[in-house]
Formats: sequence, C-alpha cells, structure tokens
Amino acid sequence: MGDQKYVPEKCVWELTLRCNMRCIHCGSTAGKAREKELTLSECLDVADQLLELGNRQTTFIGGEVFLYKGWEKVARRMADGGCLVNVITNGSMMGDAQVRQIKAAGLSNVGVSVDGMRGSHDFIRNVKGSYDKVLRTFARLRQAEVPIAVVTTLLGFNVDELDSLYEVLVANHVSIWQIQVATPMGSMAENSEMIMSPEKMSRITKFIHEKRFEQRLGIYAGDDIGYYDEHEMYLRNRPGTISAWLGCQAGLRVVGIDSIGRVKGCESIYSDEYIEGDLREESLATIWNKEGNFAYNRNFDVSQLTGSCAGCSQGERCRGGCRGSSYFGTGSQFENPYCCYPGRPNCGQQLEDGKQLPGDIDDRTGRNAARPGEGGILRSNDSL
Ligand code: SF4
Ligand code: SF4
Repeated sequence: MGDQKYVPEKCVWELTLRCNMRCIHCGSTAGKAREKELTLSECLDVADQLLELGNRQTTFIGGEVFLYKGWEKVARRMADGGCLVNVITNGSMMGDAQVRQIKAAGLSNVGVSVDGMRGSHDFIRNVKGSYDKVLRTFARLRQAEVPIAVVTTLLGFNVDELDSLYEVLVANHVSIWQIQVATPMGSMAENSEMIMSPEKMSRITKFIHEKRFEQRLGIYAGDDIGYYDEHEMYLRNRPGTISAWLGCQAGLRVVGIDSIGRVKGCESIYSDEYIEGDLREESLATIWNKEGNFAYNRNFDVSQLTGSCAGCSQGERCRGGCRGSSYFGTGSQFENPYCCYPGRPNCGQQLEDGKQLPGDIDDRTGRNAARPGEGGILRSNDSL
C-alpha cells in the first residue's frame, strides 16, 4: 500500500443478496441470491486483496450474511490479517451453528437490525414474530459472550419509539447502537411515503446527544444523520471525545463490494451508476487506483453543490453530506435532503448571531478529531 493516496480502510461487503426476509425498506431489494455470486475461494482472494490495500475494518452484510456458506472463513481471513470484522444480521436465525461460526470468525461484534418496537419492527420486517426472535437472538449472543450492536433504520413512524427502544436495548445489554434514516432506494422507493420528513431530524440529533451523556450504551449517528446543528459534535465520536462531520468518504477511505464482485465507493449506494469495476475482470488495486474512478468524491469541487447546498459556508468540508441520501433523496448527489445546519434552506433553525458553528471547536482547542463519513459501518466500541 505504501504511498497510496487513498486507502480503502473501511469496507462494507455484501456476501450474498439471498435473504429470508423481505423488508419494506430494503435498499438492495434482497431476497434471491444474485446470479453467480462470488465463490468462497474468490471471496478469500478478495479478502487478501483488501488486506493488501490496507483495509482495517470490514462489515459483512447481506441479504442475510448467515445464508452465505463459509462466511465465517472469509471473516476469519480478514480478522487474522489484523482487520476488525463484524456482521450485520436480521437476527432471525441465530442457532447453535451460527454461534459457533461467530466464535470461529473472530468478530468484534454482531450487529442486529432492530427497527422499532414490536409492531413497527414486525411491520417493517414483514414477518410477524421477528421482533421476538431478535430478543431471543440477544439472549443467545449474551450467553455466548458476543458483544451486541444494533442498527436502527428510521422511517416517519418509528422515530417516536426511540425512547422505548433505547430502554429495551439497554436492558438487553446492547453495547453499540447506530441510528440511521431510510433512503428511498430499492424496496423503499416503492414505499417512499413512509420516508421520514427532514423536520424530524433535529429530534434525532438531540436524542443521540442526550443519550450519549447517559453512557448506558455507545450511540452513534449514521452518515446520513446531519449536519452541523448544535448537537453535531456529539453524534459520531467515541465517548469522551468530540468530533464533527467531515464529508462522505466513499472512494476515499471507504469501499463497497457486492456479492458478484462489483466495487463501489460505498455499499449503501444501491445504484449501478456508482459501480467502478468488477473484481472478476480487474484486481481491487486496479479498480481502486484507476484514474477517474470515484470522481464524485476524488474530484469534488465545492462549485458542484446544487440546490439547497449551493453556496453553503460548510460546503468544503461537508461536501453535501451523505452521497447516498443526497442521490436518492433529492436526485442530485450534491444536494442533501437532511441538513440541520441552521439557516440552510432544508433546516428549520437559524444560527443565532455570534454563536459558534458546530464543529469549529477544533480550530480553538485542537481536541476535535473531525470524523469523516464511515460508509454505514457499525463501529467497534473500544471498550468491548
Ligand atoms: S447545506 Fe449541504 S453542504 Fe451545507 S452543511 Fe448542509 S448538507 Fe452540508
Ligand atoms: S456518507 Fe453515505 S455514501 Fe458516503 S460513505 Fe457514508 S454512507 Fe456511504
């Protein structure tokens, strides 16, 4: 990796599109496996390539990751190479075999999707009883002493359940909670009337900030939560530190790989338009280092910001927020629908005269490690 300008430090890797659920908000419209998904030996080779390029953190997703035979071997290869590895599962099939695989894989945590309290979760997941299965999965993981993380995707109607869900997660000894917002892509594009309205965003940032101070679990904002309201410095950092959003890192520090070996800057952008290459045709290094690839971030210029982001004073560092939520939310990859920056057109708040801009504190104290986008990756908690 040497003097590479960009390093794919963080990866989200879809091992299979096969899934035993049909969730209404599924960005990849998972269900059936893609045709000719990578074989186990191809995956092991890709794992070696990722390590060679300097990858340090990989999250395996599906579909349902446990439906990919041998997933734990790929994860173990990455873990043995010094990479922090976790999976995100729908939590519906946690039996003895899966627990054994998890142990063999050397995961830092298991991320389980929980999208609200019983009624909402079962509705979103399209399976009655799936919430109760998740609770049983928590118990199983706890018994096996596997750190538990949770990812919650918000639509319009489950935002009100955050407080109740928080208590459930704390009671179930969840260590990390990542909150994100559904984007109208994949199956969600057909249910776009359920998408959360931007006005609710400030409730979420306030909630994350407040709960963080209670220190009962590690709570984090996904990359699509933002940006620059009064809570910004307490959304993405590790406990005890402060930080601020520093722009989408797709194709800069983040890479996404799908189950047939196609490479994107971020696996959360489910559009063929973002495919930069195919691992069955070229090596990861070739795709990653190719001139002109990942241009939306590598060649970004602030003049590209459009609509409500055009002319924003935070444009240089924010760069229009999450590319995925911008692209699917406004139709422009350079205009974000969920900005909380006071005074911007999409935000209901005004910045008071003389008030410091959130995230500027690093200029005064040097304590602020500004945090770039993470690519939808569940962080591993230092304290686990
Ligand atoms: S208006 Fe756009 S560029 Fe400015 S802070 Fe908001 S999302 Fe970022
Ligand atoms: S900001 Fe959005 S598109 Fe960019 S890396 Fe993060 S999740 Fe992916």
